[in-house]
Amino acid sequence: MDIRTIGVIGAGTMGNGIAQVCATAGFPVVITDIAQAALDRAMKAIDTSLERMVNKQKMTAADKAATLARLTISTDMKALADCDLVIEAATENIGLKQKIFSSIDAVVKSDALIASNTSSISISKLAAATKRPSQFIGMHFFNPVPVMALVELIRGMQTSDETLAAVRAVVVKIGKAPIVVRNSPGFAVNRILVPMLNEACFALGEGVATPEDIDEGMKLGCNHPIGPLALCDMIGLDVMLDVMNVFYESFKDSKYRPAPLLVEMVEAGYLGRKTGRGFYTYDKK
Ligand code: NAD
Repeated sequence: MDIRTIGVIGAGTMGNGIAQVCATAGFPVVITDIAQAALDRAMKAIDTSLERMVNKQKMTAADKAATLARLTISTDMKALADCDLVIEAATENIGLKQKIFSSIDAVVKSDALIASNTSSISISKLAAATKRPSQFIGMHFFNPVPVMALVELIRGMQTSDETLAAVRAVVVKIGKAPIVVRNSPGFAVNRILVPMLNEACFALGEGVATPEDIDEGMKLGCNHPIGPLALCDMIGLDVMLDVMNVFYESFKDSKYRPAPLLVEMVEAGYLGRKTGRGFYTYDKK
C-alpha cells in the first residue's frame, strides 16, 4: 500500500515529534488529541523546533512554512478519516489504547494501516483490539524524535508482510533507519539497554567502583556518549524500576531482578534529575 497521508493520535512529547518529521518529509499530517491545549502546545513546539532548523540553516523559511501548512489539528478523531496510516502516540495506558483502537476502525478506510508508538505494551495484544490485526504494527520512535535516527518496527503475531513493507517505506522516507523486531517485552533496544543500566546499579551497590568511575569506564571503555548512572538519572529511576519489573514478571527469569540499590533509591524518592537527586545531585533550576 502506498502511504500518502498520515494521522497522529496524541499530541504529547512523542506525537508532536512524529508529526513534525512526517510533515517535514512531505506527508500531509492530521494530529488529534482529546485536549485542544495539547494540540496548541504541539503546534507551538513544532514551530519552535522548525525555527531552530531554519536558524541553523538546515531548512529554509519557505520549507518551514510549507511543513507547517501540511499540518492539521483536531480534537475529533473523525478528522483521521482520509489517512492511509494512523500512528497512535497517546498516553501509555493499555485500556486507553485499546479503546482508541476499537473506535478507530469505524473512522478510517478499510485498507488504512494502524501503528502504535507504545514502549511497553504487547503489539499482538493491541492488534487484537482492532478489526484489522494484520494491518497493525508497532512503530517505536525515540525521544527526541527529530534528532533520533532509529525506529523499531515491531511485528505482532498478526502483522502482514505488506503492512511491514509499507511502514518500512514511510520510515525510510522520513529519513530514519528502521530495524525489525518481533513482539517481545522491551522490543530490542530497551531489552538490552535497561538490564545494562540495572547492572550498573548492581555494580555500584556492591561497591565495585564509584558512580563517577562506573560512568567514566563505560564512556571511555565502550565509547558510550553518557555513563549508565547518569543515563538512569535522565530516564528516571522509577521508570527504570518499572521496566525491570515488567521484564522480571514477563520472563520469570531472575536475571531481570531489579538491583536492590535501584529499588531503595526509588523508595527514598531519589528518582534522578526530575527530583534533583539520583546517582548525582542536580540544581532544580
Ligand atoms: P505525553 O503524555 O507527552 O502525551 C500523550 C498525549 O496523549 C497527551 O497530549 C494526551 O492529551 C493525549 N491523549 C490521551 N488520551 C487520548 C485519547 N484518547 N485520544 C487522543 N489523545 C489522547 O506522552 P508521550 O511521552 O508522548 O508518550 C506517548 C506514547 O509514546 C506512549 O505510548 C509512550 O510509551 C510512548 N513512547 C514515549 C517515549 C518517551 O521518551 N516519552 C519514547 C518512546 C515511546
